[in-house]
Amino acid sequence: MKVTVPYIKGDGVGPEVTAATVSILDAAVRKAYGSSNALEWLEVPAGQQAYEQLGSYMPDTTVEAFRRYGLGLKGPLTTPVGGGIRSLNVYLRQTLDLYVCLRPVRWFKGVETPVKRPQDVDMVVFRENTEDIYSGIEWEAGSPEARKFFEFLRDSMGVDKVRFPETSAFGVKPVSREGTERLVRAACRYALDHGRRTVTLVHKGNIMKFTEGGFKNWGYELARREFGPQLESGELVVNDVICDAFLQNALLRPRDYSVVATLNLNGDYISDQLAAQVGGVGIAPGANINFDSGLAIFEATHGTAPDIAGKNIVNPCSNLLSGVMMLEHIGWDEAAALVYAALESTFARGMATADLARLMPGGTSLGTREFANQISEAL
Ligand code: NAD
Repeated sequence: MKVTVPYIKGDGVGPEVTAATVSILDAAVRKAYGSSNALEWLEVPAGQQAYEQLGSYMPDTTVEAFRRYGLGLKGPLTTPVGGGIRSLNVYLRQTLDLYVCLRPVRWFKGVETPVKRPQDVDMVVFRENTEDIYSGIEWEAGSPEARKFFEFLRDSMGVDKVRFPETSAFGVKPVSREGTERLVRAACRYALDHGRRTVTLVHKGNIMKFTEGGFKNWGYELARREFGPQLESGELVVNDVICDAFLQNALLRPRDYSVVATLNLNGDYISDQLAAQVGGVGIAPGANINFDSGLAIFEATHGTAPDIAGKNIVNPCSNLLSGVMMLEHIGWDEAAALVYAALESTFARGMATADLARLMPGGTSLGTREFANQISEAL
């Protein structure tokens, strides 16, 4: 079986982490399936290089390739300054309606972390990707639009709570029943499919009663309506927690949480805190997925790291583990398991790229290419 994977190399350290990822995934697939399975890599243009050569940061042909093949791997991209695109990642998520940002968080033995029991952190975050205060509906302080919006609030909505109207910027936070339901549905299905019992709705509904509170209420209603038998039998438990309490509990008793479903902004903070608990974003994978169409783009969670680009020192694990999520997504679990085991044995021997090795007692720093070779050998 051959699976075509359109991939964006990315800017900055992107080409280095992509090269490492491609070589390790190919080696794992060969090891697991011999010549019967293979990934066929199809490079598609995006980012700075695409802009210089084709005049577009994200050519339509690239978006079409992801649509056509139903999946893709993406290296980090420089966020263009000006040019009408706020962020290429946001553009891709919105254009392809990739409504879940999926961030599994687990610890690998040997990786130093700031917490005492990183092995207790084993969570999968479902962050809503298309709504919330991140929708990009906002107006700059002092602009005619901000003035108009304030007057609408004051004159038509009877709002008298804007403390400093002349110097206020405004943002809008849309949170919908549909948007909530498709996210919570995906989280519940995932929990059942992966033998994870608890789905926790994380929100600030105590303060933002209709948006974040709506998320909580709609989430519970959806769970009761669509997963009644599983809730009754105890196969699935759905509960909720206020976001600030969650952030504290995630440090104090992380074993209480398994699958986490949350809104866009909360999810942004939560994913990075949890990543830090197991070693940082250099090793945290991610994917943006539409669970209805199945379309999924797997990507490193860090940026282009221009300060270390081209130096053969970048840690490729975030991109690599995103690629491993892709193997699991297409059902090639044997190859995925091989990469996990190879990473584990390499870290356990104190070998890693400099960012992790310098924290390991007696650790050995390897260059990006040497680390990738080491993983391929360990396979
Ligand atoms: P960054 O993640 O690129 O770098 C932050 C720091 O972490 C830097 O010191 C960097 O050297 C280090 N770092 C990051 N990844 C590392 C890795 N894998 N191994 C070792 N060290 C690593 O964040 P930034 O500097 O804020 O952003 C740089 C550019 O990347 C910006 O243009 C930003 O918009 C873009 N960005 C893109 C994405 C994406 O494409 N998904 C995500 C975040 C930022």
